[in-house]
Amino acid sequence: MELVYNEIPREFLEVLPDGIKYIARHGKDFLVVESLCCPQGHSLMVDSVRIHGEPAVKIGVTIEGQKGSFFIDAFWGSHKKLCDFFPSAQGGALVDAFCPVCGTSLMVGDACSESGCGAAKHIQLLLPGEKNRILVCGRLGCPGHRLETQKASGQIIKKISDINFFGSQIDDFFGGI
Ligand SMILES: [Zn+2]
Ligand SMILES: [Zn+2]
Repeated sequence: MELVYNEIPREFLEVLPDGIKYIARHGKDFLVVESLCCPQGHSLMVDSVRIHGEPAVKIGVTIEGQKGSFFIDAFWGSHKKLCDFFPSAQGGALVDAFCPVCGTSLMVGDACSESGCGAAKHIQLLLPGEKNRILVCGRLGCPGHRLETQKASGQIIKKISDINFFGSQIDDFFGGI
């Protein structure tokens, strides 16, 4: 998949939360997640699987009774992901995500604001520090995702959360990091 360039607001780079780095590639700038953990503090980053050259985010998932792992592109807004199983579920199914190390659920009650989705749960990925986190809609195929950080203004957060790379249809399981 080609990385699609999205403009990163300059103001955001000044208040970049821990766990997200800014990189320039081919003269364009991107945000890349480099540190995420479960509520028990286990890292969700894996060096053994790389997407676009960066360590992927690994989460355990249960979808319609099937259990496996997703490896998600760490480039912010990318929809690229790999699985270690063949999901029979179609887009629209609800995902139950858990930490691949300790099995703690990553799901939190949080209604999706994308029109027509209606999912009541999000996958919560914790950034280093007390309050910063990324929330990804638990419905396959829904682009709903957002960043919550204390340092940036609501307007900047909205711009960042709206970044989506629609470069890949096949891997478009859920919008997210
Ligand atoms: Zn854990
Ligand atoms: Zn949704």
